[in-house]
Amino acid sequence: MPTPRPIIVGTGIAGLWTAWRLASEGVSAVLVTKETLADSASAWAQGGIAVALGPGDSPGQHAADTIAASDGLADPEAVRILTNEGPDRIYELLALGAVFDRGSDGKLGLALEAAHTRPRIIHAGGDRTGAALISCLAQVIREHPQIELVEHTEVTELVTQNGQVAGVTLLPQGGTRVTQESSAIVLATGGVGQLYAVTTNPRVATADGWALAHRVGAQLRDIEFLQFHPTALRIPGLNPAPLISEAVRGAGAILVDQSGRRFALTFDSRGELAPRDVVARAVASADSSGGAWLDARAIQDFSARFPGITAMLARHGLDPRRSLLPVAPALHYAMGGIQTDLEGRTTKPGLWAVGEVARTGVHGANRLASNSLLEGLVFADRAGRSLSRKLPTRQGAMKPSSTSGTPDSGADEKCEAIRHEMRNLMTAHVGVQRSEVSLLLAEQELDRLTRATPREAWRTHNQLLVAGLITQAARGRRESRGGHRRTDYPPDSLKQEAV
Ligand SMILES: Cc1cc2nc3c(=O)[nH]c(=O)nc-3n(C[C@H](O)[C@H](O)[C@H](O)COP(=O)(O)OP(=O)(O)OC[C@H]3O[C@@H](n4cnc5c(N)ncnc54)[C@H](O)[C@@H]3O)c2cc1C
Repeated sequence: MPTPRPIIVGTGIAGLWTAWRLASEGVSAVLVTKETLADSASAWAQGGIAVALGPGDSPGQHAADTIAASDGLADPEAVRILTNEGPDRIYELLALGAVFDRGSDGKLGLALEAAHTRPRIIHAGGDRTGAALISCLAQVIREHPQIELVEHTEVTELVTQNGQVAGVTLLPQGGTRVTQESSAIVLATGGVGQLYAVTTNPRVATADGWALAHRVGAQLRDIEFLQFHPTALRIPGLNPAPLISEAVRGAGAILVDQSGRRFALTFDSRGELAPRDVVARAVASADSSGGAWLDARAIQDFSARFPGITAMLARHGLDPRRSLLPVAPALHYAMGGIQTDLEGRTTKPGLWAVGEVARTGVHGANRLASNSLLEGLVFADRAGRSLSRKLPTRQGAMKPSSTSGTPDSGADEKCEAIRHEMRNLMTAHVGVQRSEVSLLLAEQELDRLTRATPREAWRTHNQLLVAGLITQAARGRRESRGGHRRTDYPPDSLKQEAV
């Protein structure tokens, strides 16, 4: 009997790269995605990819910056791998046809972003790095004979047998569930942004991977560490909130409050280029006392440097050469996730995780800007290589899932009011700042919402489950660190407790 193929869930950079690596090592794979191949956070990435390729830079320096940003929680070995293997992944991308921006000397253009001590962010199409990258990889994937791409299909459940993940339940849009057996499942499902009222993450970022993994007993770790992007465009009711990249601050834009005062320097001497959590709190504070704006009027050739952002602003009637840009912090990135080893294995046999859904240890309590696309490439590559060396084997045929054959009941569509309440709750009480009181309140309210949700609304239940897990983890960590700020445990507080 032929060995079932690995199934990769998600077509962001991590899923695409895993599929490509497996295929290039001669292993056929199935790539499943909820919407189209192009619907992912990866396709939206603006700033670029951090990689030590510039003069005077080194993987060691990139590692030191990554560890400094992590607030003491990064795993040094994971960071060493990230920064040492990064350059080779970029050379491979170039060989596959990816086109990055170059200077007049023909060398790769390297931008500076927050908390990097060297210019090391490579980018494509100005601020359209993700789109350029994904369209290059999409072409490779679509043409590869060993990769089967299944779009408009959701993974709703992981199926286990003898303590091992043995397959998935797939729900094609408008169809009925089918169980598909697999030699290995690789979750590459991205982030959790849609659990929050203000987020930069696409609509597909509904935390599915964390829920799927938790339900089969795989360990989640560090999920209280969430990064809020300080400068999402603040337009009430707009979901997702469009991002104004850090690169704009790197190019000289400043943050001002309602009286026109530059406020970031009063929070940190690095001002607008301080780590994201510091700037996000500064923006949240200005926002709560009247508003925060980004002033990019002094940037020369804004539209040439940031064509995507210019077009997005124009759609909302804003011209960065003339107007101040209203901004607010938005949930942007999850540092923690499904615990993996350095080859993407989770704690549950048969299950791998790569990209934002995974917790590899490279980010610790806070992510250094533009390290996530690199993490997606480097650790997806390691997972693909390790799987191609040895695919897991299992005894006996897999039993179909109990939900096989059932169509979507549509119950989730009727739960929008519940999810709306959940998102507001998470932003208000488990957001940029948290406390015992706010977290307890969130737990109680999430319990209430869970009880009010019909059993068949499984998407809503999954989101409420993950919202509850984040809240519990945030309550458990009685200190302020990186992206997790407890007002009842300020950073210098003697009350800090080991967790
Ligand atoms: C606006 C924006 C700008 C960013 N800019 C940068 C940047 O410049 N540099 C940088 O390093 N990082 C950046 N980031 C972060 C970075 O883009 C993400 O962390 C990274 O792309 C995540 O890649 P991924 O492959 O893990 O997941 P994603 O790219 O999010 O892909 C997840 C995939 O999983 C699919 N999926 C989810 N659930 C299911 C399911 N149940 N069944 C089937 N499919 C499913 C989704 O449809 C999607 O295809 C940015 C993020 C955003 C939102």
